[in-house]
Amino acid sequence: MSKKPEKVTVQLLTPLWTAGAAGKCDRLHETGIIGSMRWWYEAIVRGLDGYACDPTSERREKRCELSGKEKSDEERRAKICPACWLFGCGGWKRRFRLVAGAGSTEPFTLASLFYKNKSNEDEFNRWWLNEIFESNLADRLAFGKVTLTFIFPAGSDGEESLNQIKALLSVMANCGSIGAKGQYGFGQFAWEGKTELETALENIRSFISGCRFKKLENENRWYDLKNFWFFNFSIPDYNKQIGRFKLAKPIGATTKKPYLPVSFDIRYKLKDGGNGSGLRQDFYKMHPKESANDKKLAKEKTREVFGGPRLGSRVFVSHPYKHGPGDENYKLRVWGFTDESVAEVAKKELQNIFGLNDTPEYTSGRSLIAKLQQKNREGYEHEI
Ligand SMILES: [Zn+2]
Repeated sequence: MSKKPEKVTVQLLTPLWTAGAAGKCDRLHETGIIGSMRWWYEAIVRGLDGYACDPTSERREKRCELSGKEKSDEERRAKICPACWLFGCGGWKRRFRLVAGAGSTEPFTLASLFYKNKSNEDEFNRWWLNEIFESNLADRLAFGKVTLTFIFPAGSDGEESLNQIKALLSVMANCGSIGAKGQYGFGQFAWEGKTELETALENIRSFISGCRFKKLENENRWYDLKNFWFFNFSIPDYNKQIGRFKLAKPIGATTKKPYLPVSFDIRYKLKDGGNGSGLRQDFYKMHPKESANDKKLAKEKTREVFGGPRLGSRVFVSHPYKHGPGDENYKLRVWGFTDESVAEVAKKELQNIFGLNDTPEYTSGRSLIAKLQQKNREGYEHEI
């Protein structure tokens, strides 16, 4: 008998971005949710000493594939990575089907403070946002409650797959986002059924180490839990910078929701009136620019961290959001996949932007991995 479908209800705290092939958020595209799940799963597997291939690689030998001649699951697992096992690859089907439904939708909106003066420099953020989201200005995005129904095909181990899915969603709810464009503030969500971060990671670790999956070297540039860091800031409603952001001018619709759609300003560039200049601009400013070569290097390093043409961002910034309109404080989550020096720069700049003295909640992939290793060593010593 196959496993019954499992319904998971999550609460979106910022809108969910799931665009179709043409880049339009015309409905809830399950592929966008699955894509983000796979992306996180790959990073986690790599951090927990497993191998996860790059399924987007143009070189065929770099991707996992089954011929269809394999006789057992053991033989299949030896030929593919855990991410391909769960999410499918050439010759192998995804271990689940997903049907997603949104309780409500929300018109597309982003906002920027860069609008007050008419000079080009001051209009830059809004001009840029209009350029990249031109075709989305009239879109509607899922917001509020979303149900995710996971359906397991007959003949597959649905219990095992569901266990991995739940662990994965727990990690994403604890310190990430769901759907695409997390770097622009989309996809923050709460899930009541989530487990603690360490428990979730231990579930994934024990699954991948218990099965003999394909093992190759992960490439350095791939996203990896080992260089993950995460900050959760709590910022009072009366905070001066929050007050400024409340006046930010929107592109798309004007909405009054318990979030401020200003991730782009925080991540990219702010007008520095003694309150910080935005993460990307701040990072760029740190590098020497005495010669033309220096400038080129500074630009390259900035692109490596914040993304550029054909290069994904490694730093992600939520919109400031509240769990409900009654909350006193906004939450701001900022995370990245870089070395810890970038995390330190980001933390200082965020404290500067919001005028905060408190140390935010902080987690790093390295410390999480070390804790799991410690526990497993203790468990092992206990057994012998
Ligand atoms: Zn693979």
